Amino acid sequence: MTSTSLPSRISTDIDFDRDGKQISNLVIPYSRNESAWGSLLMPIAVVKNGAGPTLLLTGGSHGDEYEGPIALAKLVRTLEPENLRGRIIVLPALNYPALRSGTRLSPIDGGNMNRVFPGSRTGTVTPMIAHYVYTELLPLADVVLDMHSGGSSLEFIPSAICHRLENPDLMAKTLAALTAFGAPVGLILEELDMEGMLDSAVENQGKLFLSTELGGGATLSPVALQVAERGLQNLLVHLGMLSGAQPVETPQTRLMEVPDGSYYVIASEAGIYEPFYQLGDEVRQGEPIGQIHFLENLERSPQLLIAQQSGTFFCRRVQGKAERGDCVAVIARELP
Ligand code: CA
Repeated sequence: MTSTSLPSRISTDIDFDRDGKQISNLVIPYSRNESAWGSLLMPIAVVKNGAGPTLLLTGGSHGDEYEGPIALAKLVRTLEPENLRGRIIVLPALNYPALRSGTRLSPIDGGNMNRVFPGSRTGTVTPMIAHYVYTELLPLADVVLDMHSGGSSLEFIPSAICHRLENPDLMAKTLAALTAFGAPVGLILEELDMEGMLDSAVENQGKLFLSTELGGGATLSPVALQVAERGLQNLLVHLGMLSGAQPVETPQTRLMEVPDGSYYVIASEAGIYEPFYQLGDEVRQGEPIGQIHFLENLERSPQLLIAQQSGTFFCRRVQGKAERGDCVAVIARELP
């Protein structure tokens, strides 16, 4: 047996086949100076009632994004097994050390949970968690929802997100779930860097995957939290997993897309970023969406940041300070 085919080093007392509600931990071995035989106890919950689909729900993949983890914790507290058909597996703190420190990346190994899939059983904590999810949980799951927000650097119009998929049947199912979620925007996103994402790991197995981008700025927005809570209920109803429940009334989802990298606005110089727009404003191709100020050179005019595409100001950098190469804005257009 090679080391890659050995089972995960992470263990749990959860019985994934048992009906009812179980709230427990994943035990992640973490030997360190302060705790020779220590481990990390990462929260997990499973609610199951008979036959039906399995929905894997994750939040806190980045530790400075809060709407997902809070909405998932509330779902675990309030969902009674008798109202469910099938099984939900909930990891509200997927990068648990990062969530504890309130940072995007893990303070233990600098790991970005959404760039290390399929992970490694012999890696440090972040790839070890990813490997557990990949080898132990994804085989159980029919559908995966991974809830993100903008974190410390970005802010989004609250959105449900999917990717453009080659499989037309899976694309149609994904778009139906995206619309059912009921966020203000349902977005088909072309990512700048797909390598190592949970998204691709699930999509490549032909399974239904959705993510979200809710609030941002490392805050917990009441508006975005409501979108998250309603979206969770709507998705469960859409999948036929909530007996007797109706979808929550939401305004119609605006279907949009970010079709390629030209919809991203990247800072070409370091300085102080001044946005010219609020989220939701319309911007026009060839016009400035903001500018970079150079406070160490008072004679120098600010550098204008030009939109390469027309559309809606969908995402913005929230921090004033910007480095060369920072994404400062994303423009989205209506789905044709
Ligand atoms: Ca994120």
